[in-house]
Amino acid sequence: MPGKVYLVGAGPGTPDLLTQRATRLLQEAEVVLYDRLLDPGMLEGLSARLIDVGKSAGRHKMTQDEINSLLVELGREHRVVRLKGGDPYVFGRGGEEALALLEAGIPFQVVPGVTSAVAVPELAGIPVTHRGVSASFTVVTGHEEPGKDRNLDWSTLARLGGTLVVLMGVSRLEENVSALLEGGKDRGTPAALVERGGWPEQRTVAGTLGDIVARAKEAGVKPPAILVVGDVVGLEKDLGPRRLAIFRTDNQMAESAAMAESLGFEPVQAPAISLEPLPLPEDLTDRIARADCVVFTSSNGVEAALAKPDLARALSSKTVAAIGPMTARALEDRGVAVSVLPEEYSSLGLVQALAGFDRVLLLRSAQGSVSLSSGLQEKGVVVDDVPIYQISGSGDVRLDRLIRRARSVEVFAFTSGSTSRYLIKRAREMGQEEELRSALAAGMVVAIGPPTRTELERLGVRVDIMPERYTFQEMLKAARDALNRRRL
Ligand code: SAH
Repeated sequence: MPGKVYLVGAGPGTPDLLTQRATRLLQEAEVVLYDRLLDPGMLEGLSARLIDVGKSAGRHKMTQDEINSLLVELGREHRVVRLKGGDPYVFGRGGEEALALLEAGIPFQVVPGVTSAVAVPELAGIPVTHRGVSASFTVVTGHEEPGKDRNLDWSTLARLGGTLVVLMGVSRLEENVSALLEGGKDRGTPAALVERGGWPEQRTVAGTLGDIVARAKEAGVKPPAILVVGDVVGLEKDLGPRRLAIFRTDNQMAESAAMAESLGFEPVQAPAISLEPLPLPEDLTDRIARADCVVFTSSNGVEAALAKPDLARALSSKTVAAIGPMTARALEDRGVAVSVLPEEYSSLGLVQALAGFDRVLLLRSAQGSVSLSSGLQEKGVVVDDVPIYQISGSGDVRLDRLIRRARSVEVFAFTSGSTSRYLIKRAREMGQEEELRSALAAGMVVAIGPPTRTELERLGVRVDIMPERYTFQEMLKAARDALNRRRL
């Protein structure tokens, strides 16, 4: 069978923005030629031979002529996919490759892709046109050297109106912005750089033509990024993604992320701590028998304790207290009825709810708050405090990733003092503490309840929001409401 070459657009980043046709052709290909910038996830599980023709630091980059020749050579006998970022015919040199194939008599077909020129601003919350704001958009390259190609007249662009989208916008940002200002564009025109649109690290640096260069420098914006200039940029504050970092343990992550998504956030999963169950004391059933009330302060504690099979039975005839509804649900899911739930879902609330008991047994974290045990003792309650798990840093790569991209996060949701401690500790180990602190200062910090807030403040982190009821869902709702107020 003679070969054929498909010039395929891959979209701006994530594999799920590939078209169905692109996905099918990738699966059927014998050879795939791709560029450095593509998400490796797109190439997973393919049977094709993969050839990286993009530049990688320190390595020789194939010239366009070399790529054309390779396409011609492989295309004679093979089904070849030439995978290109975005759309192949938008600054992708796809047209040149097509002409080279045509000249060599190799059959080819082009497959459109989602172009970053529209998708990247869009994913950042910037529609390139908007009724009453902008009725046109102009896409240009920012990389053209002046005088070399005389195609781009920046003073005309400055007078055009509508939205200006500048691809390859980073390296000559300063010259291009100056050219627009010299051409008469107002310094106050909204402008934004969107870096790595559609990637997990996506980030927007927004300002005006007058200050975008300084802002980009300060933020350290690197390619690939797109510069958008025009009043539509103003929509970003309402329509932009609302990234919310969640630091809970891995086993709580899926449910927490789903809840965040359902409330309109884009969750960033960054487990900061992990739990290690401690050996339960051998006389635990006796100690349960002696207590008037057995108390759980987290669903993690429930999981650790009820890993022991006969414990649910020992608890069945007991008065059981839970600090809040999620802990209660975890118990009830395991067949343990909960009869005490404090009015306030906190240690303080528990102290009030349990003040009438003679003996209580606390089954909780080794690092649990002393205010619970000492508060109960002050009320004359005899406290048996049994640590059933301990907390340590998670060592999870997702936490490290969050720390590196903390600036792209809008809301930081803390569910315990320990998560905030381990987050800052890890950032310090990575040499990123200062950056993390400035990201926390620039974003919105939410604490689930008073002890978490106290711990954050002790660590020098300003807390913006605390919900009225201390549950994860309520804290997300409070954050959403505060953002809506801030944005609109
Ligand atoms: N054919 C591509 C564009 C190739 S030019 C398309 O249609 O999208 C490469 C430029 O595209 C980069 O310098 C950058 O300005 C832009 N770009 C591509 N993907 C991007 C992304 N995910 N985030 C930001 N900019 C991107």
